[in-house]
Amino acid sequence: MPLTAGSASAAVQTCLQGTLKYTATNAEGGTPLTQVTSNGRNTNWELRGKKQAGGADEQLAVGNTDSNGYFNACYTHSEALPSVYIRFHSASTGLWRVVTHKDSSTLYSFDSTTQNNASGNIPLGNVSVPSDKVYAFKIVDVLNELYWKRGTSSLCWTANQTSNCDQLIFAWGANNTEGNMFDQVSRKVLMNSNEPDSKHFILHEAGHWLQWQLHDKWDVPVTGCTGHTFNKISSATCAWSEGFADAVAAYTLGDYRYVFKDGTSFDFTNNQSTAGWDQGDQVQGRVASSLLDLWASNGPDGGNWNNTISVMTNRQSSDFRDYFLNGRPMGGLSTTGPAKDILVKHTINY
Ligand SMILES: [Zn+2]
Repeated sequence: MPLTAGSASAAVQTCLQGTLKYTATNAEGGTPLTQVTSNGRNTNWELRGKKQAGGADEQLAVGNTDSNGYFNACYTHSEALPSVYIRFHSASTGLWRVVTHKDSSTLYSFDSTTQNNASGNIPLGNVSVPSDKVYAFKIVDVLNELYWKRGTSSLCWTANQTSNCDQLIFAWGANNTEGNMFDQVSRKVLMNSNEPDSKHFILHEAGHWLQWQLHDKWDVPVTGCTGHTFNKISSATCAWSEGFADAVAAYTLGDYRYVFKDGTSFDFTNNQSTAGWDQGDQVQGRVASSLLDLWASNGPDGGNWNNTISVMTNRQSSDFRDYFLNGRPMGGLSTTGPAKDILVKHTINY
């Protein structure tokens, strides 16, 4: 191949490399509360910089950190870049994000240090999320754990979609007035203050959104839910909605509890004689513990919740009874033998 006369110098690749980190309160570690540093996994980044000295900052590349929080953000130019930096956003791929407010689409973002006259591989080491944005990036990171367990081969959150996936959107703001809910108007999970200190809190609320998605955007017609708590009767619809959300959080994190943001926790272990517990399927903790036992590694559903996820995709149930008696047979799940025994242990007799 002949060289072209007057060709420019060889291409120069510039890569910023490192690991996204955030340090946050970890309620799951119990009391007294402690801080832990975690990797910001599958978090969106944007490589930005100038191609010519004195030029404008522009977007050079986009991507996301990997499942260990590592990033390798590269751009190839005809020469070294006069300046380059990486901007992180509180979003993951196109599947979930954290915005500042329920009526806003603004993400939390921050920039790394700027590298000047940059070329080749430039290690940034650990890049830490600024303290005032930690909660947003923690939510982004924690939601990976639910996404990985979503129980469908669709890249979307549920098998109801295979493209143009709906995004799970959290709206968190330190001073937002609304929180502690999946808002049925904006269809966002709303959190405020230090609510994201608890992963269970994050995943419980995500669980409400997931149930709505599994039911193809049909809301369980919940009544009698005011003041609901784990071990007391609310209503059949409330116990199903809240019990499922409790089970989503515990199943995702591989435990059997709900952890509050102050580091205390509620243990879902119960049987017919557990003191302080009401009985039956109007008790959300009875529903949650039944689901967790059905999905357990040694349980009757094959060691995971995947068939329940499939059942819920195909049948809209307004309470646990309908899921168990009418939904499970549709998904090839048993309603007798060990499955029935689990419910009886948790005082649910159908
Ligand atoms: Zn709830």
